[in-house]
Amino acid sequence: MESSIIYVLSISGQPLMPTTRHNKVWYWLRRGLARVVRREPFTIQLCFETSIHTQPVSVGVDTGSKTVGVAATTNGEVVYQAEVHLRTDISEKMTQRRIYRRNRRARKTRYRAARFANRRRQAGWLAPSLRSKAEATVKAVRLVASLLPVGKVNVEVGSFDTQKLQNPEITNLQYQQGELQGYLLREYVLEKWQRTCAYCGVRGVPLELEHIVPKSRWGSNRVSNLTLACRPCNERKGQKTAAEFGFPQIQAQARVPLKDAAHVSAIKTSVLQQLRSFFGATQVSVTYGYETKYKRIQVLGLPKSHTNDAVAIACEIGERVTPREEVYQIRCLPRGQYQRFNGHHSEHKCWAPRKVRGFKLSEVVKAKGMVGYIRGRREKGAFLIKEVSSGKKLIQVVPSKLERVARPTQGWMIMRKPT
Ligand SMILES: [Zn+2]
Repeated sequence: MESSIIYVLSISGQPLMPTTRHNKVWYWLRRGLARVVRREPFTIQLCFETSIHTQPVSVGVDTGSKTVGVAATTNGEVVYQAEVHLRTDISEKMTQRRIYRRNRRARKTRYRAARFANRRRQAGWLAPSLRSKAEATVKAVRLVASLLPVGKVNVEVGSFDTQKLQNPEITNLQYQQGELQGYLLREYVLEKWQRTCAYCGVRGVPLELEHIVPKSRWGSNRVSNLTLACRPCNERKGQKTAAEFGFPQIQAQARVPLKDAAHVSAIKTSVLQQLRSFFGATQVSVTYGYETKYKRIQVLGLPKSHTNDAVAIACEIGERVTPREEVYQIRCLPRGQYQRFNGHHSEHKCWAPRKVRGFKLSEVVKAKGMVGYIRGRREKGAFLIKEVSSGKKLIQVVPSKLERVARPTQGWMIMRKPT
């Protein structure tokens, strides 16, 4: 079992290089030479002056619509890995709020002026659900910047670089297994054929690049001769051309180049913009999925996961690092709820006190050998515990059996895995 990383801040609060020397840290803490500023990720602040020499840490961000991977590397070492689970309940909650407000207006309450007419959408406006995702992604990177001396941030913005592929149908890109160009080409073909088998239309299975006129019959490696096929179709087609196999239209379809290839989505534009204004435009750079895939598989030899992708994104091409065992599971939390009353005539106030039997909502707790967060509390009876990574129900347990692991901080809960 490797020893876990402890993050260190200087006396003025600036992040220093992290350490794995636990003995030293406990010595400092016992002597009052350092204090704990955060339990998860475990962070200490030194109470004495030190010379500050740090090495720049590079951060990789694997953006996603549900889960974001964040990793930090320095000197060929991984120093931070996290999976951030974004909120997916925003639009549902907005609908609920709208219902509550409508309801309240229909009740006999004070006059509320109409407010719809003085709202204007600014340039760069995002729907609330997307805005929440973009902001949480940026916040996750800023969390790393509060723990480590971040020098560079790499963000994956799309599956392939449109600039490098101005005219992929004409420039004779070589398709060779395991080369960076091969990965670029593969992503392009995947996008062009919408990730479906050209012959049976199956999705979500491993697809192979398939030569429309087989190589054995002098078919070229050009993009206009490539399509996607699942394993069974590829085997059945064998030495036949697509026309002989019964799909003459595929040849014609393959000659049409992909139009408007992979644009950067609104949410990623917003993430980039915010990161650039925080870290400075020169510190933030963009990478593409085909590069990530190449680095992860060919250079690092890692299986697919959000954190492994983030590690690959953080690395330079050709740089080798080993990922760590511990991964932080981070879950974005709502700050409250809109429901104020319940009952048939809205006669019951339904806000609970901050603490029930000593516990707050969203605290990470341990019970019966399981770790989860508190989702529901009762004055008399069992608490509802849910899993941090998936949000699924774990157990119902009485509060006396609970052991606190970490408190929620600044809008999210953080848990370490393996614990
Ligand atoms: Zn097929």
